[in-house]
Amino acid sequence: MFGILGGTFDPIHYGHLVLAEKAREAFQLEKVVVVPAAIPPHKIGEVTTEAHHRLKMVQLAIEGNPWFEVSTVELDREGPSYSIDTIIELKKNNSGSEAALIMGFDTLLELSSWKNYQHILEESKIITAFRPGYPIVTDNLHWPPFLRPYRERILILEAPLLDISSTWLRVELMLGRSIKYLLPDQVIDYINANGLYRDL
Ligand code: ATP
Repeated sequence: MFGILGGTFDPIHYGHLVLAEKAREAFQLEKVVVVPAAIPPHKIGEVTTEAHHRLKMVQLAIEGNPWFEVSTVELDREGPSYSIDTIIELKKNNSGSEAALIMGFDTLLELSSWKNYQHILEESKIITAFRPGYPIVTDNLHWPPFLRPYRERILILEAPLLDISSTWLRVELMLGRSIKYLLPDQVIDYINANGLYRDL
């Protein structure tokens, strides 16, 4: 089984990287494919950093980790990115190996708004971690009803997760504050060299 971590990565941070690494370790994933989204359907209309910058920051962040790779399937595709198309394409590229989408619990709760979410849950397993600041659900009774039929396809990752979000990092940067130790130094250097996130 291999993992897929999709996201805007605007910018990528240690919250993403710890999530991916701990998922890989806990479920013995062959690898984790990090997939920057072109225009996430739920973020259309919001300003996002140009795709080539977000891609470069992901590349810099995962450099040196032999288990991680980046995929440009969503950036290469025309129009908005849908996870179902990405899963099918990546499975094809990985000789039909089983796939697991890795996501924070905040994202899992929104899954019912995604295109063909039932198909997503049939095509891939889900590895989810309880993100700081979001509810922790331990008993089946309290799972959102739309997820209950798929409960056995959802794997819970127990890992110490970091309370970092890209939104918060963008605000810190705009205010001219330090973001050191929250994301890799190479990414911080790239942000500074390219003058990213100076204005909201
Ligand atoms: P934003 O604040 O702009 O929404 P984000 O930090 O949530 O960004 P995304 O690129 O939207 O980052 O997230 C990609 C995936 O990583 C999502 O599934 C999200 O739940 C997960 N994720 C992001 N940050 C963390 C974190 N600190 N801990 C656990 N999961 C995280």
